[in-house]
Amino acid sequence: MARRIGQSFWRDFFQLCGAVGRAMKVTLLNLIRRPVTVHYPDKTRAYPDRYRGLLALTYDKETGEENCIGCRLCEYICPPQVIKVEMLKAEKRNYAKVFTLELYACEFCELCVQVCPTDAIIMMKSFDMSTADRRELLLDKDRLHQIGLKFEPSWATGNLLRDMQTPPKAPARHEAEPAKAAEAGAKPGGKAE
Ligand code: SF4
Ligand code: SF4
Repeated sequence: MARRIGQSFWRDFFQLCGAVGRAMKVTLLNLIRRPVTVHYPDKTRAYPDRYRGLLALTYDKETGEENCIGCRLCEYICPPQVIKVEMLKAEKRNYAKVFTLELYACEFCELCVQVCPTDAIIMMKSFDMSTADRRELLLDKDRLHQIGLKFEPSWATGNLLRDMQTPPKAPARHEAEPAKAAEAGAKPGGKAE
């Protein structure tokens, strides 16, 4: 009986030593391995080409006017309803009198960008707005424009995304008919002209 207890003690002891040895090996390997993290914000990594982060409002590059026409499409499409827009009607075009975006509740789904007819709301190639105060993430029109000027824009705008998603147009009738005739001529029994 005492012999069996002694055997089981030594077996458990060696298993324990093996487990501790394996764990220490992992620890030692990690001590000498190069870190996979960077000391943000002192060091930053380059964002991937298609990175889409913070939201911003844009100005027209040629006229310097705000691109937003206050149409409210972004407000209607936003799933968590974090955008609020009030339209200001003017003689030549409309503007957004009020534009607010609660970034702390945004899902970054990009739907607002996709529906915007004037590329007024876009995403930026950055997320550098971390803060401990949620109130700083309630963005009004001025702050959204500032973000648009401060960071590099992402490649995607509403018009680019819509162009990508539009199915190719069917050929016009005068183009389609010769193609059909050629197809019929190529078929066995079809009348070649
Ligand atoms: S990215 Fe999505 S959740 Fe965020 S504001 Fe736009 S529509 Fe709303
Ligand atoms: S950001 Fe675009 S979709 Fe939203 S109100 Fe302005 S023009 Fe309309």
